[in-house]
Amino acid sequence: MNMSIRLENVNYIYGEGSGQEKWALKNINLAIHDREFIGIVGHTGSGKSTLTQLLNGLEKPSSGTIYYNDEDIQADGYERRKLRQKVGLVFQYPEHQLFEVSVIKDVEFGPRNLGLSNLDVEKRSFDALKQVGLSDDLLDVAPFALSGGQKRRVAIAGVLAMQPEVLILDEPTAGLDPAGRTEILELLKKLHEENNITVILVSHSMDDVARYAGRILVMNQGELVFDGEPQKVFRYRDELRKIGLDVPQSTNILYELRDRGMAVGTEGITPEQAAECIADSLRRQS
Ligand code: ADP
Repeated sequence: MNMSIRLENVNYIYGEGSGQEKWALKNINLAIHDREFIGIVGHTGSGKSTLTQLLNGLEKPSSGTIYYNDEDIQADGYERRKLRQKVGLVFQYPEHQLFEVSVIKDVEFGPRNLGLSNLDVEKRSFDALKQVGLSDDLLDVAPFALSGGQKRRVAIAGVLAMQPEVLILDEPTAGLDPAGRTEILELLKKLHEENNITVILVSHSMDDVARYAGRILVMNQGELVFDGEPQKVFRYRDELRKIGLDVPQSTNILYELRDRGMAVGTEGITPEQAAECIADSLRRQS
């Protein structure tokens, strides 16, 4: 079966009926398919976090319908608790939610609430920690003693231990140094490729999204304004700039070269692709 999340005419308004309504999502129509790697980008306040919280049933749309595998997740009797296991959400700065005395206890917290046997809880938690690459000698360490990147891995492991089909991460690299950022992004790539998990990554970095996502959703003031392959979306440099966003740096270099008279393609969105565009242009000239 092809799993999917589908949104039909979804609106979300904060403080409905309070006289201080804030329209956070406007008429969102969207289908997310099994095993996609999606990047969600947009300015602060564009509705990204609200969208992630609707996707796993944490919040209810003000109007419109959300389907998970063709079932309306707000229907009476729908098991939203189960949905939250299947669609795991890693919040921004998830390490603020690590509170147990040891790494392993923290990761076990979620699965323990599923009513599994001790053996299953332990096995899932060990597996999850292995997947995120945390070594065994850290299992009994207190989470607060870990580095920023390690804490983030523990938090991701806690969600993975629920064995989700979809993993949503809200700015998972925020506050990490460059090496830590790359490690987390490579981890997501590995989970996507090896565990066949659908990954939905909320990010401020066009460069990261260009490198890792197969599809980009661009949000602006609660609306979904672009939805497509990165290479296609990044053709709209002027439109993206108008809403305070930009194309990846590599793409910008290609545009700058072209503005200076070089006959170069502008379709490269990663450093490697940009280098290829430039090399191509030079080869053609020689
Ligand atoms: P993003 O994640 O892209 O920064 P959000 O989904 O957090 O965007 O916010 C979308 C809009 O909803 C913003 O205008 C924000 O101010 C508003 N908003 C978010 N959370 C609340 C809330 N709890 N109460 C009222 N307004 C909110």
